[in-house]
Amino acid sequence: MTKQKEPEKDVKSFEDLQQEVVTRGLCGRCGGCASFCSADEMNALEFDRTDGPRLIAEENCLKCGICYLICPQIKALDGEVREKFGWQPPIGIYRGITSAQTTEPRVSEVCTDGGVVTSVLRYALKKRLIQGALVSRRTGPFGRQPFLATNPDELIEAAGTHFDEVQHLGEFGKDYSTYCPTIQEIKKIGQMKMDKIAMVGTPCQIYTVRKMQTLNIVPSDSIVFTVGLFCMENFSFNAKSIKVLEKKLGVKMSDIAKLNIKDDVILTTTSGQVHHLPFEVVDHIARPACLTCPDFANDFADISVGGLGSPDGYTTTVVRTGIGQKIYNGAKQDGLIKELLFRKKEKATLHRTELMAKITAFTRKKKARAKATLAAGASA
Ligand SMILES: Cc1cc2nc3c(=O)[nH]c(=O)nc-3n(C[C@H](O)[C@H](O)[C@H](O)COP(=O)(O)OP(=O)(O)OC[C@H]3O[C@@H](n4cnc5c(N)ncnc54)[C@H](O)[C@@H]3O)c2cc1C
Ligand code: SF4
Ligand code: SF4
Ligand code: SF4
Repeated sequence: MTKQKEPEKDVKSFEDLQQEVVTRGLCGRCGGCASFCSADEMNALEFDRTDGPRLIAEENCLKCGICYLICPQIKALDGEVREKFGWQPPIGIYRGITSAQTTEPRVSEVCTDGGVVTSVLRYALKKRLIQGALVSRRTGPFGRQPFLATNPDELIEAAGTHFDEVQHLGEFGKDYSTYCPTIQEIKKIGQMKMDKIAMVGTPCQIYTVRKMQTLNIVPSDSIVFTVGLFCMENFSFNAKSIKVLEKKLGVKMSDIAKLNIKDDVILTTTSGQVHHLPFEVVDHIARPACLTCPDFANDFADISVGGLGSPDGYTTTVVRTGIGQKIYNGAKQDGLIKELLFRKKEKATLHRTELMAKITAFTRKKKARAKATLAAGASA
């Protein structure tokens, strides 16, 4: 008797996610699958920031496939998301691109680049265009914790990437990561009866929100404004890999006052020395999931930001959507941010062309790295 072909499963479940992502070493530990599991209080999934997600009660799994579909490493919904948000090659839709900076002294004292993120969010809160913003604050050396800022002062706590407690590295746990699991926090806003929330996130996080919005998963509809950070990679390391890095650099991590990422990784020491590290030098402490990630420019955000291509003290700002433009222009008109000025119009046009060329080049570089890593077997 000929063996009948097994019918293809329509809906994939956590088992598929486990096979295609977790066991291949591609899980970025965002926690989205566990936070938005349909089995919810029945506790089908457990999540651990070090070990990732785990099915603890298979009998409670509804085989609904939500965890599978919203995982940023799964491509199943890519076509629908692109269509819904009008994505266009090579870096998504955009209405304007510029270098801008805050005019608020309290923001410029603490911000990472030009403080545009903090000032546009402060503007949106003050004008009640949003009720809160999901951002993150520093909790220790390299560690950040997501939180919902509901007043403009709290946004100051979230600005910047300084980590001056780094000398206490040895006192903390074994593993560190610069990644901040903001997605998990979205669940809480549903319980707070808020329906106009902004979110700052890496491309994988904003993309997960866009997937949730495509699937109408509550409360992703409450996220009405997204600010997306450019992102080449996030890092995870321990005391041992730090030692290797210190040897390579000739700089002690305890002497680092500020970390920034623009065209490369920039370390500023407490004595004011600046060290530029090409990504290739630090790729060994990049999170494995990051090496397979193709999105650099945060293609699906309302406004995307980075330091790439702008002079020091400015944020490269890509305004993409209607709501992005409304909030950016409002902050500019109210004098909270200002753009880099050029004496001649042609210089301004040239600057925009150069910014676009750099963002496109980094996008291509990141896509090529993702392709090569996946071709080499993915699990780093
Ligand atoms: C992990 C990471 C990688 C980056 N990679 C690049 C890159 O390769 N090239 C590039 O040009 N720019 C990169 N950026 C963006 C850049 O460092 C600045 O965040 C951006 O230019 C905005 O500067 P700002 O002064 O306007 O922001 P600020 O006004 O200082 O506000 C910073 C905002 O970022 C949020 N934030 C800080 N750290 C994290 C984190 N770990 N996860 C989520 N949110 C966070 C804060 O909540 C805050 O709202 C990266 C940022 C991060 C956090
Ligand atoms: S119930 Fe749905 S979301 Fe939860 S583990 Fe099962 S398939 Fe995934
Ligand atoms: S990347 Fe996020 S959604 Fe995907 S398996 Fe890991 S924790 Fe779950
Ligand atoms: S490189 Fe990709 S997976 Fe890694 S933090 Fe950035 S956007 Fe997320």
